[in-house]
Amino acid sequence: MTKQQNNFDYDVVYIGGGPGGYVGSIRSAQLGFKVACVEKRKNLGGTCLNVGCIPSKALLEISHKFHDANHNFEKFGITISKPEIDVKKFIENKNEIVAGLATGIAGLFKKNKITHLFGEGKFIDKNNLEITSEDGIKQKISAQKFVIATGSKVANLNNVEIDEKIIISSTGALDLNRVPQKMIVIGAGVIGLELGSVWSRLGAEVEVIEYLDKITPTMDNEISKNFQRILEKQGIKFRLSSKVLSVKKDKKGALVEVEALKDNSKEIISADIVLVAIGRVPNTQNLGLENLGIKTNARGFIENNHLKTNVENIYVIGDVTTGPMLAHKAEDEGMAVAEIIANQAGHVNYEAIPNVIYTFPEVASVGKTEEELKAQNIAYKIGKFMMMANSRARATFDEQGFVKILSCAKTDRVLGAHIISREAGNMIHEVVMVMEFGGSAEDIARTCHAHPTYNEAIKEAALAVDKRSIHS
Ligand SMILES: Cc1cc2nc3c(=O)[nH]c(=O)nc-3n(C[C@H](O)[C@H](O)[C@H](O)COP(=O)(O)OP(=O)(O)OC[C@H]3O[C@@H](n4cnc5c(N)ncnc54)[C@H](O)[C@@H]3O)c2cc1C
Repeated sequence: MTKQQNNFDYDVVYIGGGPGGYVGSIRSAQLGFKVACVEKRKNLGGTCLNVGCIPSKALLEISHKFHDANHNFEKFGITISKPEIDVKKFIENKNEIVAGLATGIAGLFKKNKITHLFGEGKFIDKNNLEITSEDGIKQKISAQKFVIATGSKVANLNNVEIDEKIIISSTGALDLNRVPQKMIVIGAGVIGLELGSVWSRLGAEVEVIEYLDKITPTMDNEISKNFQRILEKQGIKFRLSSKVLSVKKDKKGALVEVEALKDNSKEIISADIVLVAIGRVPNTQNLGLENLGIKTNARGFIENNHLKTNVENIYVIGDVTTGPMLAHKAEDEGMAVAEIIANQAGHVNYEAIPNVIYTFPEVASVGKTEEELKAQNIAYKIGKFMMMANSRARATFDEQGFVKILSCAKTDRVLGAHIISREAGNMIHEVVMVMEFGGSAEDIARTCHAHPTYNEAIKEAALAVDKRSIHS
């Protein structure tokens, strides 16, 4: 298909301007299509830029600096008077970063001649979309192909009303106007632990309640256990195997009724802020899917076959479809779908999608966990190296954590890697790249690594797969 050899308003329309939709729009425009992106938020960038990845990382960075100044500077030999946090400025800084990046995406749209249509899109049929603006004005547009990139929204507990002041979601946790005295976090997943860390570093007493018996449930068990210990040392409390029965507001804040799964004993805990962080659900309501015959699966996601829905010329990417709910997965699907629409290969390797928790230290993983390998009866070797023995980590007082590499017992091909360390989120990409090329632990071990770097711990872990680590 070349640009506008049809009678439609656009060749391709993306519904949703998050990392999936905006990246897909740019790639489609690069490939010569006439593109529009429908977004109901004022800013482009979706959850990720507006209320997700970027604002949370800004708050994590500043709160880490504050924590360092408060707890570590003296140890380093730096004497300062006790630092204080100006919460208003703390939040304003984050807002400025978000606004700046949103302007950047608008600029990219202009550069690539992509039309940004403000409003909520609803399918009339497979070639026509009705867009309703904030003030209720409706317009209709037509396109030869549509890509559903509507993302996800906060999941809530039954009968709990999120007011974003006392009972908050991740969105409210990015905009508090004071440091809570006590914050209860419901859910020990990535978002709860990152935002719990932010407010804990600023002085809040943080208690995390989790239904399962481990934190970050999908992660390698050894990583979860060590990560929990590190967070506990930082002052975060955990109540695992516990079910939240109710959350109610009271005069001082909120009361959370919790049942311990081991003996069904019940307790009521009070807090001035309760953060509900039990996950996210796909955005499929009011999209007019019923007008197309697109069904969602039992968990509400639109399924895909090479990013195609069951209706011809309608595609789906990002959080609203199956797979990890991550910004970089959505972006890669955005690029792939644009290329598929242009009759190119368009490919995402779901076996090599990194997952990072931006706490301090960071936690990063790619590929299989030990538990998955055991469940799949795959024979594997382990190579492990402690950050304590990495000279760069020693030089920067960052000895916490370790690198663990899992490789195939027969072929030595890298099957997974799991890291707790400062910079783990950057370090992991070395292994992601090796996995992309089907490389082995031996390949990593024979690659020259600069000294002194945190990544040397990856090389040592790769050497340890064959029991020949040098520094341990
Ligand atoms: C607090 C928090 C922290 C996170 N941190 C990270 C992180 O560090 N790394 C990471 O990889 N992921 C992170 N995520 C997840 C990440 O934000 C999502 O995976 C990513 O945004 C998904 O991209 P998407 O394009 O599929 O959807 P979204 O970003 O959700 O974008 C979808 C867009 O579609 C719009 N929309 C929905 N319906 C319609 C409609 N009918 N018409 C018009 N517009 C519509 C929405 O307004 C939204 O802007 C975080 C999420 C949260 C909440």
